Amino acid sequence: MDMIDLRSDTVTRPTAAMREAMLRAEVGDDVYGEDPTVNVLQQRLADELGFDAGLFVPSGTQSNLLALLAHCERGDEYLVGMDAHTYKFEGGGAAVLGSIQPQPIVQAADGSLPLTSIEAAIKPVDPHFARTRLLALENTWHGRTLPLDYLGAAHELARSRGLGLHLDGARLFNAAVACDVPAREITRHFDTVSICLSKGLGAPVGSVLVGSQTLIDKARRWRKVTGGGWRQAGILAAAGLHALDHHVARLADDHRRAAYLAGRLREIAGIDLLGQHTNMVFIDVPAERLRELDVHLREAGIRISIGYLPTLRLVTHLDIDDQGIERTVEAFRGFFAQG
Ligand SMILES: *Cc1c(COP(=O)(O)O)cnc(C)c1O
Repeated sequence: MDMIDLRSDTVTRPTAAMREAMLRAEVGDDVYGEDPTVNVLQQRLADELGFDAGLFVPSGTQSNLLALLAHCERGDEYLVGMDAHTYKFEGGGAAVLGSIQPQPIVQAADGSLPLTSIEAAIKPVDPHFARTRLLALENTWHGRTLPLDYLGAAHELARSRGLGLHLDGARLFNAAVACDVPAREITRHFDTVSICLSKGLGAPVGSVLVGSQTLIDKARRWRKVTGGGWRQAGILAAAGLHALDHHVARLADDHRRAAYLAGRLREIAGIDLLGQHTNMVFIDVPAERLRELDVHLREAGIRISIGYLPTLRLVTHLDIDDQGIERTVEAFRGFFAQG
């Protein structure tokens, strides 16, 4: 029985066609800047998203970290959402490795940082305070897309106060597909953007940071310093290029399946549907039945992650088809029918 793994969109395996592309990749030593496939990937995303240059790195965490290190110096601070990945889920890397202070801001329900809160958090120029340098946003955030007019307004505010703008666009293409705009309509408001190839796009490894030549040169230096300089990484970049060619438009299928799954789960007594955004469905189930539910689903070949978030998050991706969704609905229905 095929396992239906709804824990995250990071669990996808490279398709046969992607593995073929990896096998054929031309490679070189990327520390010398000589891996042709890496160079194509970096430049392709930079061009598509409206930037000078790109930098291919192993993970989204490193990509965000390098961006923070490129924008900020020791004693600077960045404004970031209280529940943002770049604040909460990256081990405090900017503080640990860059002596950069985060200023967390309580987010609105859609993930945006209210402009008034941003204003209020910007420190005066005074030796008492860290120097506020950067505004970091996330799109999608828990599957939610930031409104385009919000991005414009946040950009205006940041610019008027001399702040740089970084986007954690781990799922940038989910946002672009959901908003039905070219990704550039989102990225044009930012100085740097980090994109994960290993989430919904289905590559096994890798993220790309894009930005100005100056910022990417700094990021490249920090990549080496943090041990991220790699050699024939073109084998991995080829997977990323394949993903950009073949797995972007199909994100709409993941969103459609998530919407369908949400609609069906909502009909089941015992499940409280909290919301569905892009490829994520959020539900509450009675806490005392969670373990039992997990066991039941595992027996049906379905994996969910429990205990990580306060609610259950079900994520659709490349390896989940319509039949997998039907099996999931049936398994949930069977469990709650037992009462
Ligand atoms: C996954 C993710 C990251 C980090 O990516 P890793 O490759 O897991 O380090 C950053 N931001 C967001 C929003 C993510 O979902």
